[in-house]
Amino acid sequence: MHDESIPGEGWQLDTLAIRTGHRRTHEQEHGEPIFPTSSFVYDSAAEAARKFGGEEPGNIYSRFTNPTVRTFEERLAALEGGERCVATSSGMAAILATALALLEAGDEIVASRSLFGSTVSLFDKYLGKLGITTRYVELSNLEAWEAAITPATKLLFAETPSNPLSEVVDIAALAEIAHRHGAWLAIDNCFLTPALQTPIELGADLVIHSATKYLDGQGRAIGGAVVGRDKELEELFGVVRTCGPCLSPFNAWIFTKGLETLGLRMKAHCANAQQLAEWLDGHPAVAQVHYSGLVGHPQHALAARQQKGFGAVLGFEVKGGRQAAWSVIDATRLVSITGNLGDVKTTITHPATTTHGRLSDDQKAAASIHEGLIRVAVGLEDLADIRADLARGLDALA
Ligand SMILES: *Cc1c(COP(=O)(O)O)cnc(C)c1O
Repeated sequence: MHDESIPGEGWQLDTLAIRTGHRRTHEQEHGEPIFPTSSFVYDSAAEAARKFGGEEPGNIYSRFTNPTVRTFEERLAALEGGERCVATSSGMAAILATALALLEAGDEIVASRSLFGSTVSLFDKYLGKLGITTRYVELSNLEAWEAAITPATKLLFAETPSNPLSEVVDIAALAEIAHRHGAWLAIDNCFLTPALQTPIELGADLVIHSATKYLDGQGRAIGGAVVGRDKELEELFGVVRTCGPCLSPFNAWIFTKGLETLGLRMKAHCANAQQLAEWLDGHPAVAQVHYSGLVGHPQHALAARQQKGFGAVLGFEVKGGRQAAWSVIDATRLVSITGNLGDVKTTITHPATTTHGRLSDDQKAAASIHEGLIRVAVGLEDLADIRADLARGLDALA
């Protein structure tokens, strides 16, 4: 039988992204169907009893499993090279479900300092309430990671490359440290996606996604996912099916279709970002550009080895502090002033007063979030138009 749900031997990313996960129904549909149903029915009371008792596999209720959600999960698992994927209602739900599945009171997390803001709040405020504490270290400093580990450390958590400074950690070396201390390594792979980085192949135990960003790629829906081994993912599945942060079939379908163009989109995002970074680097009003695709970036060689591309998020610093940065942002007419990213539309933000606004002045200084720093998540508009839009404000400063 022509069964596309099972990946073919040696299939490459673009093929997996288009062909895996869909189990064709008796209707012989070509496109992936949406199953907007809360529950599923049985032919007999005995069948219902077997399904509820777990003696027979099959769908019961869409908080547990749904065929559209399963298609997205199987496709993403294939792309990340993981045994299993569990989809969640958001990226934050993916991180929460990971913590609830793996950790208990008294356990510790060691995390990179430059994390997504809500992740820090989740760790400090909400996991803190449960008696789980988090220590933060500089992302690229492997000695700092190892020094922060105690016998209570169960989870290492990193975002690489970091936002907005494009710092990178050696995932294989970090996995080795985690495993030597009996801890799991989770990588938030939101910025690069499996098109550009596959942490599991480098030794990570879990990959976390905000599907809201590049997996969708067009800013349409909120969702998340965790990819890893059967053992840990079975625990995570238990959390999602019982506690309820499940993904809706509609959103799963959007992400499934988003994955089909992931490889193409990420190549185009990277090409635009690289050219924009090089242009910014030569602009007289720009003091510094943070993008690991630039040869002058301190971790360019590591990024080039570990990643298949440098991503689409870059930071740059203008001379003249907050006022100068705001004037560049306010002079734009094309790019969107928003903290979001992972969209075909280019976005611009001033981290010090938005995404990183909750940090104290000392924390901002420690994280190098200066007042002159601007973050751009480069979209897929024509590069000449993006450049002209930024040139308006920058030329006025120079
Ligand atoms: C957006 C984001 C999240 C959270 O995802 P949501 O889908 O908004 O809940 C987590 N990590 C990173 C790196 C993100 O950019």
